[in-house]
Amino acid sequence: MDRDVQRECTATKKNGTKCNRYAIRGGNVCRLHGGAAPQVIRCAQERLAALVDPAIGVLQAAMKQKKDLRVSLSAAQDVLDRNNLSGKQKIEVGVTGWAAILREKQAARAAKAAASQEPRQT
Ligand SMILES: [Zn+2]
Repeated sequence: MDRDVQRECTATKKNGTKCNRYAIRGGNVCRLHGGAAPQVIRCAQERLAALVDPAIGVLQAAMKQKKDLRVSLSAAQDVLDRNNLSGKQKIEVGVTGWAAILREKQAARAAKAAASQEPRQT
């Protein structure tokens, strides 16, 4: 799998080699190279928040362009997904009473086994 070069930490280690860890989201350094500091975390969050409006603008432009319908559909689907308006639904399935069903099956199996052994004994 290719690593995302833009998200790699920009710091160098003491031995001069590049740090290969991922930078924090919205930041340039990993947690070990300053990414855990509160002011760095705050700046990273502000940087990400500042990108939201331009990103929405790009999505809007992609939706309105007429060259490639797939791009428009993909952008529209992304907007719907992010607003929890997609066609996907979460369905939870559970089995209740399975223990009783297993007990019934086990009792039936035992009764059948007992019935098949009776003629041999007599
Ligand atoms: Zn690092």
